[in-house]
Amino acid sequence: MKKPLLASAAIALLATPLAAQDDPASAVSAERLKQTVEKLVSFGTRHTLSSQTDPKRGIGAAVDWGADEFRSISNKCGGCLEVVLPETQVQGGRIPDPVRLRDVVAIQRGTERPNEVVIVQGHIDSRVSDVMNATADAPGANDDGSGTALAIEAARVLSKHRYPTTIVYALLSGEEQGLYGGQLLADYAQQQGWTVKAVLNNDIVGNSCGSDGYCDAEHVRVFSEGTRADVTDRALSAQARDGGENDSPSRNLSRFVDDIAEKSEGELAVRQIWRTDRMGRGGDQLPFLDKGYPAIRFSVAVENYDQQHQDLRTEDGVEYGDTIDKMDFPYLAKVTQLNVRTLAELAQAPMPPAPVAKAAVSTDTEISWKPVVGAHSYRLYRRRTDQPYWPSEPFDTIDVPDAVRQANEGVVVSVREPRGQRNGAAVSRTEISTTLAHIRGDDWFFGVSSCSADGACSPVASAVPGGAFAPIAQGEGDSE
Ligand SMILES: [Zn+2]
Repeated sequence: MKKPLLASAAIALLATPLAAQDDPASAVSAERLKQTVEKLVSFGTRHTLSSQTDPKRGIGAAVDWGADEFRSISNKCGGCLEVVLPETQVQGGRIPDPVRLRDVVAIQRGTERPNEVVIVQGHIDSRVSDVMNATADAPGANDDGSGTALAIEAARVLSKHRYPTTIVYALLSGEEQGLYGGQLLADYAQQQGWTVKAVLNNDIVGNSCGSDGYCDAEHVRVFSEGTRADVTDRALSAQARDGGENDSPSRNLSRFVDDIAEKSEGELAVRQIWRTDRMGRGGDQLPFLDKGYPAIRFSVAVENYDQQHQDLRTEDGVEYGDTIDKMDFPYLAKVTQLNVRTLAELAQAPMPPAPVAKAAVSTDTEISWKPVVGAHSYRLYRRRTDQPYWPSEPFDTIDVPDAVRQANEGVVVSVREPRGQRNGAAVSRTEISTTLAHIRGDDWFFGVSSCSADGACSPVASAVPGGAFAPIAQGEGDSE
């Protein structure tokens, strides 16, 4: 009778998938994503220079609709979203006369540390072949109706839950004319004094086949910068000596997303692309990187160049244009789920620490960092300098007892006796340090992740110059 027992046990497991109950990503709907993209396409064009006042056609109507959409989601969660529309006037190479530019931003405030923020965003504007053409139909279904729908769907499912830190859902304008909406939100984040933990930029995330017939619905690409956009001369020369060009916070955020994708088996695998964006191109993660905020770009595994930035037409039997019929909504749902899982984890986890490793002329390595608010434990990782990824398991975990977290400034408590090859860790309100005996630091990169009481852990922050999840202090070393 073994077989039937196993079968019924399996059915019971399927009936109550424990993970799914806690996993907000299970509520993501491909059908709803499609409805959102259909609505966006119905505005005819969402070009930045299109009408601001027509109630049915143009960027003004689309932005107003996006704001209403967030408001109605907020109504269903007891007003849990604060909807704001940062606004500015912009002018530039692709905007000959000053034009009104608005972003739609929904803020789900954290219950414990509202100043810690993770942002998910797509751009709501669209274009055709001529970037200045503001009147032709520019459906922008995939570019970037997909990212816009993803941000709205993320708000729908995550607003049903509460998180200790803040989630921001953003629909950005003016991307095609020069990343203006991304700049506007990055400026807004800075003005608010937010501690930006991560920015997930989603741009072209809803198709799975290229114009040459090559298809891949199993991967999503995640782009991350190596050398930081906000690097200073001093930080650059420190990296040249000690390493760190492969350990920016954005790179570790990319590794983090890859790990999350791997844990949700069979869904969607991450192809990490260790470049800031596609070759010769850009996106709305860039203005955030310029300010030193960790930011990555999600994009499809296979781009279709006939179906982006194109006038709607058929030439020699080839259909051009960014239309809804060319999209893959089950694929977009998978990318949305990965974003939702990542956002949920990041919103629960504390900020990553800013560890420093010291190993000069020593057979030991000392790793130290300042305690992180909300961290109940820290996980320590190391990898060989020629290895691309952190191992799946930490080589050590340091728990921070309640007594220490509440202790007065400067109190030092030894939390463990020496064990094996380590000398134990010292934890105080001002510093946590651990000495790794007989570990030659030259031969390793070290990283530390901070974890909440319920086990949500931050991305790993590398103990290298420029590894911290914080802007590099500007002006540093410029006088050297
Ligand atoms: Zn785009």
